[in-house]
Amino acid sequence: MVHETGYYDLLGVQPSATMDEIKKAYRKLALKYHPDKNPSEGERFKHISQAYEVLSDAQKRDLYDQGGEQAIKEGGMNEGSPTDIFNMFFGGGGRMQRERRGKNVVHQLGVTLEEIYLGTTRKLGLQKNVICEKCEGYGGKKGALEKCSSCKGKGVQIKVQQIGPGMIQQIQSMCAECQGQGEKFNSKDRCKNCNGHKVHRKKKILEVHIDKGMKDGQKITFHGEGDQEPGLEPGDVIIVLDQKEHSVFQRNGDDLMTKMNIKLVEALCGFKRSITTLDNRQLIINSPPGQVIKHGDLKCVQNEGMPIYRDPYEKGQLFVQFQVEFPEKHWLPEHLMYQLERLLPARDDVMITDDMEEVDLIEADVQSQQRNYSREAYEEDDENPRGGVQCQTQ
Ligand SMILES: [Zn+2]
Ligand SMILES: [Zn+2]
Repeated sequence: MVHETGYYDLLGVQPSATMDEIKKAYRKLALKYHPDKNPSEGERFKHISQAYEVLSDAQKRDLYDQGGEQAIKEGGMNEGSPTDIFNMFFGGGGRMQRERRGKNVVHQLGVTLEEIYLGTTRKLGLQKNVICEKCEGYGGKKGALEKCSSCKGKGVQIKVQQIGPGMIQQIQSMCAECQGQGEKFNSKDRCKNCNGHKVHRKKKILEVHIDKGMKDGQKITFHGEGDQEPGLEPGDVIIVLDQKEHSVFQRNGDDLMTKMNIKLVEALCGFKRSITTLDNRQLIINSPPGQVIKHGDLKCVQNEGMPIYRDPYEKGQLFVQFQVEFPEKHWLPEHLMYQLERLLPARDDVMITDDMEEVDLIEADVQSQQRNYSREAYEEDDENPRGGVQCQTQ
């Protein structure tokens, strides 16, 4: 039984969520609440990262499901820093790299299932810092750097404030004159192009090649396209694909899944139905007379799923799940019923004796019924392994 759901709630997933769902939820939230994008949500980012760290590890997740946050703390599991978890997830530079390299920048790019099926190139405009070409990142005339007079070269300024009778307080702050460098150019030697900042903002267009069959969450790395800074190797720009929902197809790895409603007559007597593929071809689904399709039946079409990444002539499978629409009540006049019955497989005889009690069937109140079921399911949850019903795909 799942006692505590706080970590699941933080990520907005069900306690039965699969690893994929947990990853996807973390990716969305981490990008949204990363301090670079949302400086006021630092705490939130930290909690989201902690929740992900636990739920993404089968062992820690078990421990959490059994004993909640308390068990994680007692288990002596050390908490990773939110930034490390973020970097590990997005494949950014670890601690070692961060000292020599600039920060990686992560962007999410929404793509449609059609774009992934066909492959495409998307142009992405980014603002980034580049080293000033005029002064080559020096900030001004070579050799003209002077000691900052405001801070006397210390890079910090100390203000003394009287906060009460006989009480003073020292406040140390970065020198605004020289940006904490201790040295600066006087105005005539300062580079006019970058105003002494050594870098300036520039728009850069990145061409993102979306190859056939790429996955939701797949990363495309542009090495060294991050912000430039003198003396630092620039970080990477990492594009993370975010596959949008599709109205007809759901993707499951390399396979596609779609639902098809058929009428009872089609289920029993066969049919031909068309499906429009993601590249706009028409497939005819054929169920010959003699075949019976039951409600919920799953059938598949070979080689009509998603193209396989880096092997796009191979494709996954297309699964079609059938939903049989039954006719409404009184669709057939009663005097014709027996004709229909003659054609259908014979019913079983039922023996009715005097000691049996006949009851009426009435419409069930589905909502209150579901509440009862879920309560039972919750109580019996101990015996059920996580994950629920799974489809056999082969
Ligand atoms: Zn200064
Ligand atoms: Zn310059």
